[in-house]
Amino acid sequence: MDIKLENLRHSTSHLMAAAVLELFPNAKPTLGPPTEDGFYYDFDELKISEDDLPKIEERMREIVKSWGMFEKLETSNSEAIEQYKNNPYKKELIEEHSKSGEKITLYKSGNFIDLCKGGHIENPQKELKYFKLLSVAGAYWRGNEKNKMLTRIYGTAFFSQKELDEYLKNIEEAKKRDHRKLGKELDLFHIDERVGLGLPLWHPKGAILWREIEDFWYKEHLKNGYGLVRTPHIGNSELWKTSGHLNFYNSSMYPPLEAGQALEEKQQGKKVDVSEEYYLKPMNCPFHLQIYSATPKSYRDLPLRWAECGTVYRYEKKGELSGLIRVRGFTQDDAHIICRKDQVEEELERVIDFIIYIYKSFGFEMDKVQVFLSLRDPDNKTKYAGDDTGWDFTEKVLRKVANKCKLNFTEEKGEAAFYGPKLDFKIKDALGRLWQCSTLQFDFNLPAKFGIEYTNDRGEKETPYMLHRALFGSYERFIGLLIEHYAGNFPTWLTPVQVKVLPITDKQLGYAKTVVDKLKTESIRVELDDRSETLGAKIRDAQKEKVAYMLIVGEREVKDGTVSERGRSGKDYGSMKLEEFIKNIKEEIDRKTIN
Ligand SMILES: [Zn+2]
Ligand SMILES: [Zn+2]
Repeated sequence: MDIKLENLRHSTSHLMAAAVLELFPNAKPTLGPPTEDGFYYDFDELKISEDDLPKIEERMREIVKSWGMFEKLETSNSEAIEQYKNNPYKKELIEEHSKSGEKITLYKSGNFIDLCKGGHIENPQKELKYFKLLSVAGAYWRGNEKNKMLTRIYGTAFFSQKELDEYLKNIEEAKKRDHRKLGKELDLFHIDERVGLGLPLWHPKGAILWREIEDFWYKEHLKNGYGLVRTPHIGNSELWKTSGHLNFYNSSMYPPLEAGQALEEKQQGKKVDVSEEYYLKPMNCPFHLQIYSATPKSYRDLPLRWAECGTVYRYEKKGELSGLIRVRGFTQDDAHIICRKDQVEEELERVIDFIIYIYKSFGFEMDKVQVFLSLRDPDNKTKYAGDDTGWDFTEKVLRKVANKCKLNFTEEKGEAAFYGPKLDFKIKDALGRLWQCSTLQFDFNLPAKFGIEYTNDRGEKETPYMLHRALFGSYERFIGLLIEHYAGNFPTWLTPVQVKVLPITDKQLGYAKTVVDKLKTESIRVELDDRSETLGAKIRDAQKEKVAYMLIVGEREVKDGTVSERGRSGKDYGSMKLEEFIKNIKEEIDRKTIN
């Protein structure tokens, strides 16, 4: 974030804390940093609701009138501790800083003093104007669920009313587009506590949307030289030991499943036969490597490209679960490419081209995509498998190909997977928010761990390289992104109900049914509104459901064998022969037109 904006928001959080303490003198301020979108401040001993925010805001505007510049107060660390003797949170912070040898600083503006490192605006009266308090939430002290729950107030601040208004408008729009809200309204999916948190249930309309995307995905993969594989949801502990997942990935895996004989033996106090211990799969890769191992391979068999929409399970903390963005069970659109060293570059390029093509197909141009090259942290090598030579080679090739494909990328140290470096692609949605989607990961470790090999052209055994890649990332997250990006107004080929037929009165029901039947035989997803409602009510409901087209049939349409077409925005396209409508909509679906 821009440092000036950061200072502004940090200063606004001082002002908010000052107002809170005047209105609620028992509140204990803790931490209040600026964030990407604004700022927050956490308080203990503060019971408020969002109804209190206008009052706090009003007090802020009052207080700021008496604020001069932020003034640095000289203090010794022991004086500071004395000053905060009734606030265990600030005390903890001061003691921590003292231990690491830092000098404590306090800043004062008006009557308000706060523990702070500095970084403020110059002229509070002039600059602290365009702010808004947004919400109240619970937050654990220092983000640790073992600590006490505090009250967090979120707000934001800008340098002009225009920027503030724009931001607030964006939040409103984001709320309307929220995939959890639209998922419910459009009857696409829900998450049910009785089933389990982070485990979405797909309703018929959501499942058809998924299925359309999946069909497209399979077709494109077959066109691009991939083969399809299928593997189970659980795997033996020996498999995960070999892959290194139990070593490097354990914290994201569910505990082992023990059933039948293994469990009986354990209950009898016998040593459990490890081969009867199973884990839910957090990744598909080890299974694909075992498929490779099933038959001997020669250099002529490579590259092998194997794709699977595989459902994996990863443990995520309850507090981190969020709609379809972060779940515990999800389906990766996964593939592994196993190839020779001399094929690596071309295969990487092919994947990048494929990613770009897929994004375009859903309406995302590359200027809406941010790419990150994730490298290992050279100061923390124990987090990663493999030797320096392997890391140096793979990081270099990945960087070279990213440059060759003209990707506009930033490098991030310490973000690599444990088995190799990767490229991550994040898509900007219609509101400019970033969604982690594609990933292309380079792996020179798993093949060796599994002892897979091929016979080269000189008759010797060699270990191949492996690429892991997912284009959407996961179906769940990608559909979440599509819902928000399109605000539920999907392109016709994806829309769960493509056509709704609306007879004006019950007299046209018979004709309406023949229209529905004809559309069905053309594989168009169609519903009939046969309720005895007014046409106005039927149109409103169809619009709420965001169907792609409404076909209105009245007396004249029955007589002429026509339909009267309306778009979901309400646009009237007039009457036409049913055949003409079918021809148009089929063309739109086949071309996967983005509206
Ligand atoms: Zn400060
Ligand atoms: Zn993989």
